[in-house]
Amino acid sequence: MIKRKLLRVYGIVQGVGFRPYVYRIATSLGLRGFVRNDTLGVEIEIEGDEEKIETFKRRLYSECPPAASIDRLVEEETDVRGDASFIILESSSGRERETLISPDLATCPDCLRELFDPGDRRFRYPFINCTNCGPRYTIIEDVPYDRPNTTMRKFEMCPECRAEYENPADRRFHAQPNACPVCGPEVWLVEGNGVKIQVGDPIKAAARFIQEGKIIALKGLGGFHVACDATNDNVVKRLRALKKRGDKPFALMAPDLETVERLCFLSDKERELLTSPKCPILLLEAREEAWKVISRDVAPRNRYIGFMLPYTPLHHLLLRETKRPLVMTSGNLRDESIIKDNDVALEKLSGIADYFLLHNRDIATRIDDSVARVIDGKEILIRRARGYVPAPISLPFTSDKEILALGPMMKSTLCFLRGQRAFLSQYLGDNDIYDNYLYLLEIMERLKKLFGFKPELVVHDLHPDYPTTRLAGEMELPALAVQHHEAHLASVLAEKGSFDDEVLGVAFDGTGYGRDGRIWGGEFFAGKTGNFERIAHIA
Ligand SMILES: [Zn+2]
Ligand SMILES: [Zn+2]
Repeated sequence: MIKRKLLRVYGIVQGVGFRPYVYRIATSLGLRGFVRNDTLGVEIEIEGDEEKIETFKRRLYSECPPAASIDRLVEEETDVRGDASFIILESSSGRERETLISPDLATCPDCLRELFDPGDRRFRYPFINCTNCGPRYTIIEDVPYDRPNTTMRKFEMCPECRAEYENPADRRFHAQPNACPVCGPEVWLVEGNGVKIQVGDPIKAAARFIQEGKIIALKGLGGFHVACDATNDNVVKRLRALKKRGDKPFALMAPDLETVERLCFLSDKERELLTSPKCPILLLEAREEAWKVISRDVAPRNRYIGFMLPYTPLHHLLLRETKRPLVMTSGNLRDESIIKDNDVALEKLSGIADYFLLHNRDIATRIDDSVARVIDGKEILIRRARGYVPAPISLPFTSDKEILALGPMMKSTLCFLRGQRAFLSQYLGDNDIYDNYLYLLEIMERLKKLFGFKPELVVHDLHPDYPTTRLAGEMELPALAVQHHEAHLASVLAEKGSFDDEVLGVAFDGTGYGRDGRIWGGEFFAGKTGNFERIAHIA
């Protein structure tokens, strides 16, 4: 029997090859209708044999593209319209917003193969990407996720790229950042004084400078990195002094997994994370041999090395030339937020970097690399940013209000709560530094716009002098103050699925403003979330 159904798909379904995938399943089953993006997610109208529609729905889940995830599928029956084929329609933009936006995705194996294939038209092209990989959150300025709403809008696709973009059978069908050497962004190399260096291949030239012991600032996916040869004591020492970093370890980028394997102990889980589309910096226990290769100044007196693998085509090209691990630290001034724009980098980093490897694909939202550790086979996030944000975290309860939580002062993040989902921002640094406070405001507005948040309540730390507490006071919203250590305990309980349990909890987190107006430290709490009693304390 012929039926027509309207299916609404919620989840991470935009910018991850979802529509071409829907198209392929529908046409392979001989079904008719359409698919389109809107501000809520993806809308499908599917018409044909009832059983085939059921198969279509099953396959929608079972063959989901790697970067997509379906949260919810809502269906309703509608009138048969007798469509002749299945098509992909233009996006429609409604007022409500619920689409989830994909985090940025590390270069996929298919693109990597093409990148180093001399016969491919994107051979050595540093911005190669497809629906399975490439920039997302960092280039999106508005939803729905379509090219005019990204920083790729200024690059007009050439006929070949356009043909891929419009061909539902192509891996680059509706890949919004699709580009090639003819029509897309480009890289160039400049000296510290901003003067462009005329070279045939700026990436090869940058690699040579690194091998010669120079420091390079390079524009990446979510902002600038400062890079140098991690095996060269002198340059690592020089960078440490210039960045005024004390003994804080530098993150490294290795050319490949084999290099990491040779220098550090790796478990299966660690291997999996390093090579995942998230591609975090992973804290790994160093082998003895590591310090014969890597400068001890990378991580003084530390047993661990923070390693990541190349996650953009530009990184792959650069590290294939240098053939050694590089220091890849955030491009910023001490304690400030990561820099994203060419002119700001030239102004602020000219005292640190000898050369700048720049490009003209603008970064809409800056974001640091994520940092993770594996403990007992489980991934523990130390800094949640690129590759993870803005995917939400599911909570064990549902909020009937939309809530904005502003966090405390040090190592801050902010969070929007909607229903059962917590949308945590990326890591925002210490917001008593003015530059980071501006970053916090920027990200708050960005997330509001992308997800259409309209908070009804603002939550802040009990400390009256935190910048976020003052910010909450300036908002025309009901406000709720939360004691810092109680918030820590509540978040641990939410993570462990014990949110509503009667517990004895311990919070050791330096000092925090107490409910009695004194400074607290080292608390023992008893009770349930929202009603903890401080039964003992150390400070
Ligand atoms: Zn790809
Ligand atoms: Zn092109």
